[in-house]
Amino acid sequence: MEANTFSYWERTAFIDNADIIIIGSGLVGLSAALHLKTQQSALKVLVLERGFLPTGASTKNAGFACFGTISEQIAYLKKSSEAEVLRMVDYKWRGLQRLRQNLGDENIEYQQNGGYELFMDDEPGRAEESIGQLTYFNNLLKQAIGKPDIYSVVDAKIAGFGLGKVSRMIYNPYEGQLHTGKMMCTLLNKVYSLGVMVLNGCEIKKIENEGIGVKLTTSQGNFKTGKVILATNAFANQLFPELKVTPGRGQVLVTKPIAGLKLKGTYHFNEGYYYFRNIDNRVLFGGGRNLDYAAEETWDFGHTDTVKNKLISCLKEVILPGQNFEVDYWWSGIMGFGDDIRPIVKQVEPNIFCAVRCNGMGVAMGSLVGEEVATLALKL
Ligand SMILES: Cc1cc2nc3c(=O)[nH]c(=O)nc-3n(C[C@H](O)[C@H](O)[C@H](O)COP(=O)(O)OP(=O)(O)OC[C@H]3O[C@@H](n4cnc5c(N)ncnc54)[C@H](O)[C@@H]3O)c2cc1C
Repeated sequence: MEANTFSYWERTAFIDNADIIIIGSGLVGLSAALHLKTQQSALKVLVLERGFLPTGASTKNAGFACFGTISEQIAYLKKSSEAEVLRMVDYKWRGLQRLRQNLGDENIEYQQNGGYELFMDDEPGRAEESIGQLTYFNNLLKQAIGKPDIYSVVDAKIAGFGLGKVSRMIYNPYEGQLHTGKMMCTLLNKVYSLGVMVLNGCEIKKIENEGIGVKLTTSQGNFKTGKVILATNAFANQLFPELKVTPGRGQVLVTKPIAGLKLKGTYHFNEGYYYFRNIDNRVLFGGGRNLDYAAEETWDFGHTDTVKNKLISCLKEVILPGQNFEVDYWWSGIMGFGDDIRPIVKQVEPNIFCAVRCNGMGVAMGSLVGEEVATLALKL
């Protein structure tokens, strides 16, 4: 017996008429929907989402519009190639331009205040390595960003931000920030306006290829459609175990507003494992997944004392030394990682496509990843 029996009206208006069903209403799923409708306006596109809101990473992230710090580029270069580093930076940069073009800077509160990579007193080796490679990366990445002097040393600005324990700092003026919630709200309204249906509270439990179409077994009943796009990111191998995606939880806090907060822009340290920014005169701060990879490799939202204690001590010692602050609340989000940091965009089976694993970079890449899978689904 099906969990629910849909009425004739529900079946004909909501359930049975989709040419393509997208599973997951995160940035990738909705960007795919947007591209499908802009390419073929008559196409009937349905998005099914198990959460009340998108419940993965897209409404939980830090809203950094970035393409990587020097340390992150160095780490990637060590396990790939120069051409690959350049390709990924180019992809993220173009992804950010597409996001802004699709949604409009004002709607998503996009601001280009620049980004900073901090090096602590106790990591001189890492600072030297990064500063030593600055000219190399400026020359390389100029080919993607089209600007000279992407990274520069700005140690003199450290004191002005009121930071503690920081000895060196690298600035990137092309990094931006946005309001993650407004980004997703604007995207949702955009796809609604094009006639995409988004249904929430619907968990897909099984996907079966039936030759000419696909049957979905869900918590709300069965759906039939021509093609399926899987955009479930960290949760991808719950439906297709062969997909190499590992979940990684990110824990985040936001403080209460702080009078006279000196931070402006986005800040990263410890090879990008920690990140903070100013939002409405509060500090948003997240990271620490590397303190216990095993514990954070989970599909469960939540917090651990290990990460919470570390973030609080960094707030006291690095971000707001000598200042009074109160944490207002915490949340967490789940990212999709893999040994390879490139997203997986491919056909999984006939009529079934996937676009998953944007790592911690989906704000930058998600619009293009969605677009790519939509193009593939229309072609095959
Ligand atoms: C704490 C944190 C900070 C981050 N900071 C940044 C940042 O500053 N900059 C940046 O570029 N990136 C950042 N990221 C990464 C970025 O948010 C993600 O890469 C991006 O949002 C991934 O989008 P997505 O659509 O692929 O996945 P998601 O947003 O996770 O969407 C997947 C959706 O699928 C749904 N779903 C899963 N299984 C099912 C099912 N069986 N049936 C129905 N629905 C299902 C989920 O509920 C979810 O809504 C951060 C992520 C986190 C968690």
